[in-house]
Amino acid sequence: MSIKENITQIIRELPSDVKLVAVSKFHPVESIMEAYGAGQRVFAESRPQELAAKVPAMESWLAANGMQNDIVWHFIGHLQTNKLKMVLPYASIVQSVDSLHLLEAIEKWGRDNGKVVAVLLEYHIASEESKQGFSEEEIKGILSDAGRFPHIRFRGLMGMATFTEDESVIRSDFSRISLLFKELSSSMPDFSELSIGMSGDYRIAIEYGSTMVRIGTMIFGERNY
Ligand SMILES: *Cc1c(COP(=O)(O)O)cnc(C)c1O
Repeated sequence: MSIKENITQIIRELPSDVKLVAVSKFHPVESIMEAYGAGQRVFAESRPQELAAKVPAMESWLAANGMQNDIVWHFIGHLQTNKLKMVLPYASIVQSVDSLHLLEAIEKWGRDNGKVVAVLLEYHIASEESKQGFSEEEIKGILSDAGRFPHIRFRGLMGMATFTEDESVIRSDFSRISLLFKELSSSMPDFSELSIGMSGDYRIAIEYGSTMVRIGTMIFGERNY
């Protein structure tokens, strides 16, 4: 199936209040152009250099075709504090904030550049230790002290389930993030995004209240790392 057919198929299945974030990492700009042609506007990248190269490439392509730049970029990868200037000018949201050190660096960048940066806090729900993210206590600690970060807008939680065939494990991971999200969002109206679900598990994630699914492989095919 073509990229366009894949997108159409996924959109048809998604509830209307769940956003599709097309994960274009490791795929060429030609693939992003094709997805754009299918109506997709929200894309996510996980490497700073790649984002910083694709944003201007897509901008020039749209301008050359007389189109307005209405693409929205999300950043979903591990972000080192020395790479902020490659990401923060372009990304409308950083979904993958996974340390206090990073949060403090983003706050400083926002202060220096007169901007407020939207973020999701990454909650470590998977059993793999290798995955990034905060514990529940750390997330509550940060949010209870959110006044420390006037240049950060806390929009919600992001999580990645354990990579497994065992659906009960995936359900248990999503159930934990969903519970924490409900608890937090009930007292903070702006904390309204729950980013869970990838190609292999997005149907399950929707059952647990996902507001945005991050789908790469099912749209663009396998990645060549
Ligand atoms: C790569 C990636 C995805 C997309 O994964 P697919 O299985 O290709 O859909 C989603 N979220 C994050 C954080 C990723 O790094």
